Amino acid sequence: MEIKKLIEESEHYLMHTYNRFPLALKKGRGLKVWGWDGKEYLDFVGGVATNCLGHCHPKVVVAIQKQAQRLIHVSNFYHIEPQIRLAKMLVEHSFADKVFFCNSGAEANEAAIKLSRRYFEEHLGQNKFEIIAAHNSFHGRTMATLTATGQDKFKVGFDPLLPGIKHAAFNDIDDLKSAITNETCAVLLEPVQGESGVRLPDADYFKQVRRLCDDNNVLLILDEIQTGIGRTGKLFAYENYGITPDIMTLAKGLGGGFPIGAMLATDKVAAAFQPGTHGSTFGGNPLACTAAITTLEVLLEDGFILDQCRRMGKYFKKKLEDLKKDFPETIAEVRGMGLLIGMELFRDCAPIVKACIDRGVLINCTAGNVLRFMPPLIVTEKEIDHLADVLEQVFDTLA
Ligand SMILES: *Cc1c(COP(=O)(O)O)cnc(C)c1O
Repeated sequence: MEIKKLIEESEHYLMHTYNRFPLALKKGRGLKVWGWDGKEYLDFVGGVATNCLGHCHPKVVVAIQKQAQRLIHVSNFYHIEPQIRLAKMLVEHSFADKVFFCNSGAEANEAAIKLSRRYFEEHLGQNKFEIIAAHNSFHGRTMATLTATGQDKFKVGFDPLLPGIKHAAFNDIDDLKSAITNETCAVLLEPVQGESGVRLPDADYFKQVRRLCDDNNVLLILDEIQTGIGRTGKLFAYENYGITPDIMTLAKGLGGGFPIGAMLATDKVAAAFQPGTHGSTFGGNPLACTAAITTLEVLLEDGFILDQCRRMGKYFKKKLEDLKKDFPETIAEVRGMGLLIGMELFRDCAPIVKACIDRGVLINCTAGNVLRFMPPLIVTEKEIDHLADVLEQVFDTLA
């Protein structure tokens, strides 16, 4: 089908929930993707921090093919071997003792919210139900996670939202402290606020949050849906802060592009979920778990990719800092951790994204004026150099 017809039918048959670029992608390998018209692009969006090993990593492709021939889906009425293996891997590499599988980030956060409420109300007999999330956070689009999301623009027209969820300023321990009451059951935070523009907390903020939660008998839920699976240079971002949460949610990078979500917790907290309390038909599906097992295996192989992510993250930030020196009137700030990098501009960044697409580079604009870079963790210096050259050209023409 030619691209013009394809876009016409897309507009005709699909609900208009996305403002899509006039571009359809057909094929991908590593950082490269090819459009329907055969044009080649370098992908620094990575399916929004999802394709952590690049497009169509050969080991992930083969694992999915083999598992698809063996068994695609069975019910959670039965034990599922790939699900058990994946849970074991996640437990062995994290603070957690138990895992619950679902299919997306929002579902993982829903599960975390339900678990933390149940932990206090049903399990311990205490009347604690209130969740405190942060202003400018993003936690998903279901009713509970939308309520937890700290940005009004996503909530228009969906009232009434869920009761018992409120917000405090991110990276402000005093504001969080004054928000906590006897009814607070959990604090829900992103280690780095991704969607709202790659906002990092101060180095000791999460240590203070951990202490505050402990002192007040409140659970700490970390939403690592964007920061997890190596994105910040550690397998999980909390490792950068020297703390552990009580509950953690994962999705995006976990399946290397295959849809899967997970909610992890300590034994003590996980005990509040008993048979019948929560579930998901597709959660922990053999095919999805196989994709995730292989993704984790490749990612953890002798630590090479995590090391590469840290080195390339530094290199990337340096290149963008150099650009900032050349364009001080356009670029306000460069910030990030590992390969989750934001470049805040003094202007709307949509035209820049468009100009980059025209020059064969895919980047993302978030929060209106922040360019967000989330390339596969296998990105090379050469590819980063190419992006920097293209950005320079674009800033030159717009200046
Ligand atoms: C993407 C994202 C979500 C939502 O994940 P979905 O899979 O789209 O439901 C939640 N929290 C954070 C931090 C995210 O980046």
